[in-house]
Amino acid sequence: MDPDPKETVKEVESKVILHWNYRDLAELPEAVRTHGGHVQEMYLKWNRLTVIPSWIMELRNLTNLYISGNLIRELPREISEMSQLTVLDLSDNELAWVPPCISDLSNLRTLLLNDNFIDKLPVELKRLSNLEVLSVSSNQIVVLPEWIGSLPRLKELHMDNNKLRELPNRLTLAPALTIISVCVNRLRYLPLNGFLSAPYIRFDINDFLNYMSYPLLFQLLSRLRTTLIDDRGTLAYGCFKSHDDVLNTNIKLYIEMKGFYKKNADVIIELPRQLLKVHGVHENATCSLLELALRKVYTGRFKHTLDVTISPPNATVLYAPLSEAKFDFTMTPTNYMFRLLRNGPASICVNPRCQQPIFTEAWTIIGISFHAEMITTALCCSKSCATAFATHSSTTITTLDWHCINR
Ligand SMILES: [Zn+2]
Repeated sequence: MDPDPKETVKEVESKVILHWNYRDLAELPEAVRTHGGHVQEMYLKWNRLTVIPSWIMELRNLTNLYISGNLIRELPREISEMSQLTVLDLSDNELAWVPPCISDLSNLRTLLLNDNFIDKLPVELKRLSNLEVLSVSSNQIVVLPEWIGSLPRLKELHMDNNKLRELPNRLTLAPALTIISVCVNRLRYLPLNGFLSAPYIRFDINDFLNYMSYPLLFQLLSRLRTTLIDDRGTLAYGCFKSHDDVLNTNIKLYIEMKGFYKKNADVIIELPRQLLKVHGVHENATCSLLELALRKVYTGRFKHTLDVTISPPNATVLYAPLSEAKFDFTMTPTNYMFRLLRNGPASICVNPRCQQPIFTEAWTIIGISFHAEMITTALCCSKSCATAFATHSSTTITTLDWHCINR
């Protein structure tokens, strides 16, 4: 289409919202620059744009910009001056990376980057402190960074159809999350801890996911019973199979099924990386100094409880993010400790009278939950908590025998 310039000027002048989807535009008409200072929203979906002109920054009233379905490979540096932008939709383009200049959009609430070729999220994005919706589905992302969990206003995280192997533990501490969607990925496990904001989690088609922690299971089941978002009455499709092809770096447990759980075949599960040592329910052992120190420092700074014995689960946290600047950690082991503290415990001890944070070492109960007929894990901070929990829960969980196969 070759629009009449006069008509275009007239249209721009008369509208606050420009609906220019499906117009076959190869470039943004100059009339927007000369007569569009008042324009607040621009819909440019499904055109043939290859670039966004640098003069776009002159549109001082533009708050919503929808450019999905074009051929854009990069953004002009000048876009970083558009701090008034609240919605930026760059889905279905040719982006191979997320331009870090997006992180200067301090009022951005919605960022849509679906269907591009992005393989990681740059750390600069953690400055988007007003971001509420982040959607990066159908890309090539392997690792979701821990800082995602510290975006203070993030409500929706959509990461379907990527290559995620795990979710960051810190996501469990995110204060405002209501929806996490991570269907069609390669998740081996979900975080073991319950989520403080009790979000709805969609995780269908994660072929290698074959168990869930007791706190998270309880939380998700309560959510299913109380929400209308999804009435399928099941947690997820395409998960909870038995596999023996799992990563080598994490602790793997060999679960003896003895005829439990749909199949007779024994199952291997993989625990999150953070766990370095696990003990059986009745195993006498002394916790490592590292673990004891982490628990002490964390409980000294945070009140973090997650009571899963009532429904809906009661989560409270007084969470002040640790500031790197306050610590002078030059030694590598302390950096490691700092990271663990900042990213939060792998779980809270499931003994409701204890609720200590657990970071690297735990007494582990593996069982089948009568609620959902799936393998569950419960982590306890000590032998006595494990014994108490096993006794207390014997009516709802059938415990299974297990042994480590790679430690
Ligand atoms: Zn405990």
